[in-house]
Amino acid sequence: MALLIDRIGELVTNDPAVGERPLGIIRNAAVVVRDGRVVWVGPRTRAQPCDEVWDAAGRAVLPGFVESHSHLVFAGDRAEEFAARMAGRPYEAGGIRSTIAATRAASDHELDAHLARLAAEYRRQGTTTLEVKSGYGQTVRDEERSVRLAHAHTAEATLLAAHVPPPEFAGRVDDYVHLVVEEMIPACAPHARWIDAFCEVGAFDAEQTRAVLDAGRRAGLGVRVHANQLTAGPSVRLGVELGAASVDHCVHLSPADVDALAGSDTVATLLPAADFSTRGPYPEARRLLDAGVTVALGADCNPGTSYTTSLPFVIALAVRELRMTPSEAVWAATAGGAAALRRDDVGRLTPGSRADLVVLDAPSHVHLAYRPGVPLVAQVFTGGVVLPPA
Ligand SMILES: [Zn+2]
Repeated sequence: MALLIDRIGELVTNDPAVGERPLGIIRNAAVVVRDGRVVWVGPRTRAQPCDEVWDAAGRAVLPGFVESHSHLVFAGDRAEEFAARMAGRPYEAGGIRSTIAATRAASDHELDAHLARLAAEYRRQGTTTLEVKSGYGQTVRDEERSVRLAHAHTAEATLLAAHVPPPEFAGRVDDYVHLVVEEMIPACAPHARWIDAFCEVGAFDAEQTRAVLDAGRRAGLGVRVHANQLTAGPSVRLGVELGAASVDHCVHLSPADVDALAGSDTVATLLPAADFSTRGPYPEARRLLDAGVTVALGADCNPGTSYTTSLPFVIALAVRELRMTPSEAVWAATAGGAAALRRDDVGRLTPGSRADLVVLDAPSHVHLAYRPGVPLVAQVFTGGVVLPPA
């Protein structure tokens, strides 16, 4: 049975063949969906009749947002740490340890229910593809159950055992890396698509990061890296060298980092909600875009540095603070996220893509940045099915 989504005022396809770059906009458009896939897009006057019609009433329709960076398997929250930081205490990587203790103490059911609630929060705000990382377990048992729980919600589960060295390995980080390589990766790889590591002063150095990512690759996992978030370091270039799908954060970039990214298939994923929530500096998106680097945007939902699930908020931040245009930001939160996950079936609305759509209570995508903080996501379709009300 075919569904016609009709009377779309502005359709963002992300297909440069059908309209202006980068969004490929068609005005007064329609979309035909069958078996969960888009089968046709174009001007509504040329649409074939369908069994079922959904009236977009002149509003804007976009591909669902593609979140390529989230940390949703955890227990507890860190509101007090946030309040303290806002009162003037700087963020240090060690804040993660309180979440590790709470996560280890939680039951599978508690972790799963919390993850489901946050995933639903993402969906209601238009995110239809979601990557989820482990990283708050840091024992073989707790990382294995974290990626297993993540995998039950998404095909894009990531093993981030190398998040910060756990407290019981203080002063012997190499022993922890050995545990990750020899035991955690073999136990977790069946549930994961990706391997990730936090390469940073106070977390893992370049050699330790390389050992983890290489072992992940050998186990069949794709590579992503938390790179150059708090300090300039070698991790962006290391990620490019290892063929990472994405290097994430990229706040501190050398000219060599930008050159390496520009000559590669590695996406630079910017997570400005983390910089916003830590009052940190923002990444220089314009430098990356002007050099021809593929840029993605994510919300980086996590309890310590970015407790938001709102891609519309991230788009508004990227336009205001990263000086991206509204078109660049919307592309980065849809097609950019898909590129960061090496997916060609999401992040666009073209024949063959998944019918994941967002209907805005607005006439154009620009309103996502122009009307910050306003709940503009009116309807979400996942695989051609309307998301039921919460
Ligand atoms: Zn992260």
